Amino acid sequence: MIKLLKFYQDRGIKIVRGEGQYVWDERNNKYLDLHAGHGVAFLGHGNKIVIDYLKKQMEEISTLSLAFDTPIREEMIKELDELKPENLDNLFLLNSGSEAVELALKIARKITKRRKVVAFKNSFHGRSMGALSVTWNKKYREPFEPLVGPVEFLEYNNIDSLKSITEDTAAVIVEPVQGEGGVIPAKKEFMKNLREVTEKVNAILIMDEVQTGFGRTGKIWAHQHFDIKPDIVTAGKAIGGGFPVSAVFLPDWIGEKIEEGDHGSTYGGNPLAAAAVTAACKVAKSEKIAEQAQKKGELFMRILKEKLEDYKIVREIRGLGLMIGIDLKVNPSMAIKILQDEKVLSLKAGLTTIRFLPPYLIAQSDMEWASDAARKGISETES
Ligand code: PMP
Repeated sequence: MIKLLKFYQDRGIKIVRGEGQYVWDERNNKYLDLHAGHGVAFLGHGNKIVIDYLKKQMEEISTLSLAFDTPIREEMIKELDELKPENLDNLFLLNSGSEAVELALKIARKITKRRKVVAFKNSFHGRSMGALSVTWNKKYREPFEPLVGPVEFLEYNNIDSLKSITEDTAAVIVEPVQGEGGVIPAKKEFMKNLREVTEKVNAILIMDEVQTGFGRTGKIWAHQHFDIKPDIVTAGKAIGGGFPVSAVFLPDWIGEKIEEGDHGSTYGGNPLAAAAVTAACKVAKSEKIAEQAQKKGELFMRILKEKLEDYKIVREIRGLGLMIGIDLKVNPSMAIKILQDEKVLSLKAGLTTIRFLPPYLIAQSDMEWASDAARKGISETES
């Protein structure tokens, strides 16, 4: 009988529906969803505006490649205009974060005619061949080598290491907060230096905002925290309000050099994706999601620190906005399992970090719930 790969079978709970920041299993147990589909459900589950846009679009026309214009794409462009990264007026839509990274890397090669790409230790950029090549974790990379090269991995947040970025570098790809690698925010000075060095040697600076983008860190784009302007921004996850969409934002000087045939995607920017992005933009603006993430992130961090900081196995509680990591001195798997028993869904990041990626809707009572559950998980792990 056909079956999913064994890794994806029997994950313990069967989720049957979601609403806002909560999901329910088949026995009607309610969970606080700080996993959010690996951060996708930042706008919450079942947002009414997203559903209405998708339903309407489904009825009008759902299947149309980029070969023809359609009103929903025009509406999306209008909505996205206020939210796009500054000066990056050219948009290419794809379907997953990896695909967005893949295109950014292709563009860097074409524009610079160089080949070397610089990435950082603990990075994660996806699992397609190009994206995997700039992903740090050896376990993910080694079985598939040789990958796309040459790639050099430098120390994240280490200004000295930036000396390796020289005139043979096509691009540097960086996450403003490393997500999968352990919720590690970049330091402002590091980012500023990185921008300066890449500018000096004419290397393209690709800001991978697949996880950080669209409000999660307290700004619409996390790189805004550092007052820098990247050359390319990749986005995904939250930008489709739950629907699979990713985006690559480019400046005119790069956009002008991309020709038809350089890239393409049957599904990229399809009418449903455009409807989802349009709705997500409307919600982002009317709900001021970035401001909410900023305020709620600060509150959540304060509550977590109050309740957890004194445990011996807690190394650090860190993050930016609603992207939060509780870094332990030990494997966090048992604590994550106890959180789940307490009906709080979370994720692992790096080797030692419990990661929370809440929807912007998270309430103070949810934060108390999550931190009490984390306290139980951590104290039981410690004893
Ligand atoms: N870049 C970053 C920063 C990510 O966090 C992820 C996914 N976790 C990806 C790229 C890959 O995205 P996808 O799984 O949608 O291909």
